[in-house]
Amino acid sequence: MSEEKNKIPGGLGTVEENKKTKEQQEQKALADRMGRIRHKIMVLSGKGGVGKSTVAANIAVSLAMDGNKVGLLDTDFHGPSIPTLLNLEGKRPGSDGKSILPVEFSEGLKVMSIGFLLQKKDDAVIWRGPMKMGVIKQLLTEVNWGDLDYLIIDFPPGTGDEALSVAQLIPGTDGAVIVTTPQNLSLNDVKKCINFCKQVGVPVLGVVENMSGLVCPHCHEMIDIFKAGGGKTMADEMGVPFLGRIPMDPQIVEASDSGKPFVYHYGETEAAKAFAGVVGPLLAMNDKAEPETKTIVSKKEEKKGMHKIAIPIVEGHLSAHFGHCEEFAIFDVDLEAKKIIGQERAPSPPHEPGLLPRWLGEKGVNVIIAGGMGTRAQELFAERGISVSIGAPADDPERIVISYMNSALELGDNTCDH
Ligand code: ADP
Repeated sequence: MSEEKNKIPGGLGTVEENKKTKEQQEQKALADRMGRIRHKIMVLSGKGGVGKSTVAANIAVSLAMDGNKVGLLDTDFHGPSIPTLLNLEGKRPGSDGKSILPVEFSEGLKVMSIGFLLQKKDDAVIWRGPMKMGVIKQLLTEVNWGDLDYLIIDFPPGTGDEALSVAQLIPGTDGAVIVTTPQNLSLNDVKKCINFCKQVGVPVLGVVENMSGLVCPHCHEMIDIFKAGGGKTMADEMGVPFLGRIPMDPQIVEASDSGKPFVYHYGETEAAKAFAGVVGPLLAMNDKAEPETKTIVSKKEEKKGMHKIAIPIVEGHLSAHFGHCEEFAIFDVDLEAKKIIGQERAPSPPHEPGLLPRWLGEKGVNVIIAGGMGTRAQELFAERGISVSIGAPADDPERIVISYMNSALELGDNTCDH
């Protein structure tokens, strides 16, 4: 079709132009909504049935009980169980004419779930990929959470396309909590989750071993039935934090089935105390100290949306080979205002093992945009809380940063992974 033919009458531009404008508007709306949320935490698991939603709901309730403003977003198409867990089944989100209003569980906890949008519980199972993504995008851009301290996102299980798409739609996530059980604890499952996080540039906040040992319903003593404790070994091996073990407790099932948040109604139990241990490092994000895994950006800067982005440069353009760059273009940006505040060029130090992560970390860099980078280097940056976007084009660095701030940077394959 010629360009003229493709034009919509009335000088409104081509179909492609209008589509692009709509996408840009959606991206802006998404960035605006997400910019009002201080901490975004994903809850992931390698497979279903390990208690991911139970952990997500109880984390959200615990954070709200501590006086925080919390949102809980249930994106699990396979069984959106959050409405059941919080006795919100049959509720419908409201609207203020411009945006969707989440369901209020309590003053401090707002909830949005795919389950609120379905007529029947299993309806979403027949949805195809693009439809699911359309719904998630809509939930993220159109739900008006207002100002939140935390948004807890209950993910679809696994590390497939669905989880990947959700992760890519949520900019600036603080990190992921990975839920597993002792019996499902195959090395590959947790490894897959950790590698998934690296792939999407999300720090791993820690691993939770759920259904770890049993609380006797009679004497309330802990009994280790399966080989418990594998989660800690696994986390140590993979170099990620271990957040704790939550025992199997029949009262969790009872509370969940009757829609009573366990940590609130059974606060004195061993399992509730174990939840408190898991939530501790997440609470620490919002006050006092940053957790060990968090980025180098100071809280004050983070609150204002300030970030430092580094791009490896060769001959004035992004270098496709991270390890061969001549210098780094380093930009101070305000992601909320989508503005470049300052920029400098710094000659690259020698490419010795482990030096670049330390050097860039000391400069306060918390985002790297690269063409290609080896897996080990990615791991080293992730350990410092520096997120890495790979597959960026060999383009002018300023143009890359502007696209990045507008969530319009197109990433291809890793251009060099040795
Ligand atoms: P997922 O989201 O991983 O599919 P759910 O959170 O829906 O898993 O939990 C699956 C089932 O296991 C639910 O019936 C839930 O009540 C139960 N459950 C979760 N954690 C525990 C626990 N620590 N002790 C006993 N039952 C649990």
